[in-house]
Amino acid sequence: KKIIITIDGYSSCGKSTLAKQLAKKLDYIYIDSGAMYRAVTLFFIRQDVNWRDEAEVKNALKDVHLEFVYNNNSGQAEMHLNDENVEHLIREMLVAEKVSEIAAIGAVRTFAVAQQQKMGARKGIVMDGRDIGTVVFPDAELKIFMTADPAVRVERRYKELYAKNPNITLHEVKENLELRDYIDANREISPLRRADDAIILDNSQLTMDEQLDLVSQWVEDAIMA
Ligand code: C5P
Repeated sequence: KKIIITIDGYSSCGKSTLAKQLAKKLDYIYIDSGAMYRAVTLFFIRQDVNWRDEAEVKNALKDVHLEFVYNNNSGQAEMHLNDENVEHLIREMLVAEKVSEIAAIGAVRTFAVAQQQKMGARKGIVMDGRDIGTVVFPDAELKIFMTADPAVRVERRYKELYAKNPNITLHEVKENLELRDYIDANREISPLRRADDAIILDNSQLTMDEQLDLVSQWVEDAIMA
């Protein structure tokens, strides 16, 4: 039996790392819902969309075509925006700085959630994000809510971004994580919340192997239930 696994939580808790490991181990499909909000953000920045104007947002979304394309070399699905591979561009600070503001817009969420739900029509997926267990798949068989010590999160994200851009500062990374967490948890539509039936996973003190063992047990239990 295949199930739907949702992983929600604050930024840089290691959601995508865990989701990828699980997908590989279970032979499931991993879907990075944040990549969709990031790609919409990139499009809005490029097209200079005034995102405070609802009509303009709705109109702009008509020209946004998102697709996850599997890359045989990386072994990962990569985000394509209107047939352009934007997987790397959407991880840059320019996008990170604006994404939470854009993800708070109702029309943007409706647009992304509809596509996410379609992808879940088949079971055997792991999806990570902020509202997956609460809004996108409220009936998922296994829901995980990840947390980690803020200092640990900043350090992890800094290392990740520094590898690509040595000009980045720890301060900048910290500010961005705090701002995104604040907006994500306080927006009006689908704010970041733990679903009542989500299991909390605090991984500040866990090694990657310990974490995967623990969660694999939860998966087994969920499949048996
Ligand atoms: O997961 P990631 O950090 O790449 O997500 C980028 C941003 O997209 C988050 O900070 C949040 O504002 C938004 N997001 C969201 N709902 C999701 C996934 C991401 O609002 N399901």
